[in-house]
Amino acid sequence: MAAKGFNAYKMAREQFDSIADKLELDEGTRELLRTPMREYHFTIPVKMDDGSVKVFQGYRVQHNDARGPCKGGIRFHPQETADTVRALSMWMTWKCAVADIPLGGGKGGVICDPHDLSDREQERLCRGWIRQIAKNIGPVEDIPAPDVMTTAQHMLWMMDEYEHIAGGQYPGVITGKPVGMGGSLGRTEATGFGVIFMVREALKELDIDITSTTASIQGFGNVAQYAAVLFTEYGGKVVNVSCWDQEDGKAYSYYRENGIDLEELRDITDRFGSVDKEKAKKLGYERLSGDDWLKHDVDILIPAALENAITADNVDKISDSVKLIAGGANGPITPEGMDALNKRDLMVIPDFLANAGGVTCSYFEQVQNNTNYYWPREEVIGKLDDKMTSAFYAVMELAKRKKIPLEEAAYMIAISRVVDACRMRGWI
Ligand code: NAD
Repeated sequence: MAAKGFNAYKMAREQFDSIADKLELDEGTRELLRTPMREYHFTIPVKMDDGSVKVFQGYRVQHNDARGPCKGGIRFHPQETADTVRALSMWMTWKCAVADIPLGGGKGGVICDPHDLSDREQERLCRGWIRQIAKNIGPVEDIPAPDVMTTAQHMLWMMDEYEHIAGGQYPGVITGKPVGMGGSLGRTEATGFGVIFMVREALKELDIDITSTTASIQGFGNVAQYAAVLFTEYGGKVVNVSCWDQEDGKAYSYYRENGIDLEELRDITDRFGSVDKEKAKKLGYERLSGDDWLKHDVDILIPAALENAITADNVDKISDSVKLIAGGANGPITPEGMDALNKRDLMVIPDFLANAGGVTCSYFEQVQNNTNYYWPREEVIGKLDDKMTSAFYAVMELAKRKKIPLEEAAYMIAISRVVDACRMRGWI
């Protein structure tokens, strides 16, 4: 999102084009799938607490709904762009397809930094976003969810506004709601846990005992924290997390050789995943530059912050000790970065496979909303584990059979499923 010259949509299209060549897709099919089917750009006027009016730019992009209603998060981020939202909507289509859930791909966003907004201003922004898009989303059309810097509370304000407009109870219009208000148990931890279910299976394939492994994680928000929780529960050791520092306008890595203490770090982290640097120093964490999370002598790297984290420019910093990389964030590895990784002796679980736990659990949330019957947490996490594990082995089996990297196999499965749905509907 942030780096100058980086364009996530260009990257998403390049990734698609290279698989389209391998699948020998015709021109019409390529044109359909490399472009979002619908997109909405709108302004959101918000009355600020001081009485002034501030106008924010909002987006919703629906990439493809051949396999089911569009699904995807809403980001609040100062560097959000239309092209980032387009890319993320396309990646959502592939993610739902590779996880084999009956949903398509969508994504939304607002250019803003919620750190700068009071709770009341954030509520007005959420309600304003819904007022602009309510007629184009819905439980059977397009279902938003939380993403970077959006929370369960934001989702609830959005649901409430939608219900005012639609005149009824529509909990299935949005997922990631608080538990007790239509949210699913297990949703908060689902993406991070899903990443670690895949890491667990990948380590089995690599014949490595998880209890002997160390990991460096980029990010310390929702995905990163819950990945760290489950990885630690399985006996692994996390030695690094990174985060954005709003005050300094740059990212930092926090490293402790004998492992981070999750509870201690969470206590000094705000709700947007930024660690308090002074308190971290007092607790004995070494503060390193943002990119330094890559250079540690660990077994596993988990980029779980934003896109464009591993590139041709920094891939050489990765230590030879790294045996596995699991993409927690969306689009964390550029195609050039991936080419370089594919030449090395390590396994990469592609982002749209590794982080599919969130959307899978969002799908479970919708199923529960539709039946108005809520499952116990163990049932949700168990079903999530089953879905993630079977998606991992479907991709692994194709990768082994065709002797191709996991990313290529995952894209081949996902794109083929979407193409089949478009064909069956008679679109192509
Ligand atoms: P979040 O807002 O909770 O956390 C983001 C974290 O990244 C924060 O700790 C932030 O400080 C950090 N960060 C931001 N810029 C950074 C930088 N330049 N360097 C290092 N750290 C930086 O967001 P999240 O929900 O954890 O999402 C993280 C990634 O995972 C995003 O790419 C998101 O699209 C993806 N994702 C999230 C979910 C989900 O369910 N939350 C599902 C699938 C994918």
